[in-house]
Amino acid sequence: MADSSGRRSAELFDRALEIFPGGVNSPVRAFRAVGGVPPFMVGGEGAFVTDADGRSYIDYLGSWGPLILGHAHPAVEAAVADASRAGLTFGAPTEREVVLGELIRSAMPSLERLRFVSTGTEAAMSALRLARAYTGRTKILKFDGGYHGHSDALLVAAGSGLLTNALPSSAGVPDAWVADTISVPFNDLEAVEHALSVHPGAIAAVIVEPVAGNMGVIPPADGFLDGLRELTRREGALLIFDEVITGFRVALGGAQARFGVSPDLTCVGKIIGGGLPAAAYGGRAEIMRLIAPEGPVYQAGTLSGNPVAMAAGAATLRQLHTPGCYDRLESLGKRLEDGIVQAAARAGATVTVQRVGSMLTPFFTDQPVRDESAARRCDTRLYGRFLHGLLDRGVYAPPSQFEAWFVSLAHTERDLDQSISAIDDALRTAISETKAGSGPAAG
Ligand code: PMP
Repeated sequence: MADSSGRRSAELFDRALEIFPGGVNSPVRAFRAVGGVPPFMVGGEGAFVTDADGRSYIDYLGSWGPLILGHAHPAVEAAVADASRAGLTFGAPTEREVVLGELIRSAMPSLERLRFVSTGTEAAMSALRLARAYTGRTKILKFDGGYHGHSDALLVAAGSGLLTNALPSSAGVPDAWVADTISVPFNDLEAVEHALSVHPGAIAAVIVEPVAGNMGVIPPADGFLDGLRELTRREGALLIFDEVITGFRVALGGAQARFGVSPDLTCVGKIIGGGLPAAAYGGRAEIMRLIAPEGPVYQAGTLSGNPVAMAAGAATLRQLHTPGCYDRLESLGKRLEDGIVQAAARAGATVTVQRVGSMLTPFFTDQPVRDESAARRCDTRLYGRFLHGLLDRGVYAPPSQFEAWFVSLAHTERDLDQSISAIDDALRTAISETKAGSGPAAG
C-alpha cells in the first residue's frame, strides 16, 4: 500500500545518515538544494519509478542520463542476464568489449581508438593525462560550471554538485594541483582566445561539455564549438569533448555529430553502460597510441570493460539504431518544453526553458542562460518549491536547478501530458507559496 507520508523513505534516510556522509553516495541525491527527504527508490519500469512508500513517479531523472530507453528495457535486461550467467568478470579480454567498442566507433568515428573505464570521472581524468603527455604541455582550460567528474585537477568552478553546495571548489585539493587549470566562462570565445594568448604553448587541452549539462542545459552559442576547434588547432592544443551526457543523447553520434565539430579526444559514459558502470575515452589513433601498453601513459582498471556492463551498453546502443528514435526523442523533448512554457504562462511564472533534443532545463529566470553566472541568478528557492510540488503530484525531476531533465524513449505523449498538468499545478502552488512566504524552504 502506498504510504503518502513518505514514512519509509524518512526511516531509511535516518539510517543512511548514520552510515553515509549526508546519507548518500553522491551529493546531489541528498536533496540539499531543495530541502526535504529524498525518496528511496525500489523499482523502475519504462518511464516510471516507484519509491519505498509505494509512490509512483514519471521519471525525468533517468539516473542522471544513462536511461535513454527507460527503466528495465527487456532487451537490456535479457543481455544483462545472459552476460551474468556467463561470468561477472574475468580480468581478461572478452568479445563483449570488442562489440561495444565497434558500436561506439561506428556512431562516433572520431574515436578511432578507445579505452574503456568504469566512470566518467576516470574517462576525463585519463584524457587529460593523455593530452598532457601528447602535447608535452601542462595547462588545461575548462569552462566555469563545466563538470568533468571529481578528479583533483578538474574540481575548479565545477558545476552542479558544487554550485548546489555553494563550494567554489573542493577542500582537500592542494592549490598546486589546480594551478594548471584555467577556467573561463562558457560560450565566451574571446576569453578562450585570451587565455591561449596569455599562456602561449602551455595549454595541453581545452575540455568542454559541448552542450553544458551540469549548470542546467546550456546549448553552445552559434560558432562556439567551431571556434574552439579553430583556436585549439591554431595553438597546438587538443580539443576534448566531454560527451558523458551528450554522447548517444543529443544524436546517435553525440554533440560532435549534431553540431558537426570533430574533437581530438572524446569522453563518453552514462548511456554506453546502459545503466551499469561503463565509460570510455578515445580519439585519434595517433594520440591513443600513447596509452599503455602501447605507449608510456599508464591507465588501468580491474573492472574496466566489465562484460555485464558491456552487454547492457551494447543492447542499449543497438536499440538506438532503430530508425526514427532520435526524431522521436526530439519531438517528445519539444512537447515537454512547449508544455512547460505554456504552463508557466498560465501560472504567471517566469521560466526560460533551454533544450537540446531530449535534455532540457526549466530555468527560473526571464533571461536566456548562456553561462554559469546567468545560471546562478535563477530563483533556486522557487525551483525547490516547484520540485516538491512535482514530487507530490507524481513527477520526479532533478533535485537541483542546475541539472538536466531527461526524456526517454519509454515516455509516451500521455506521460508527458500528465506531467505537464502536474507541472501546471506545481508551478501555481510554488508561486503562491512564494508570495505567501511559506512552503518548504530551499537550502
Ligand atoms: N562528465 C560529465 C559531463 C558528467 O555529467 C559527469 C557526471 N554527471 C561526469 C563527467 C562524471 O561521470 P561519473 O559520475 O560517471 O564519474
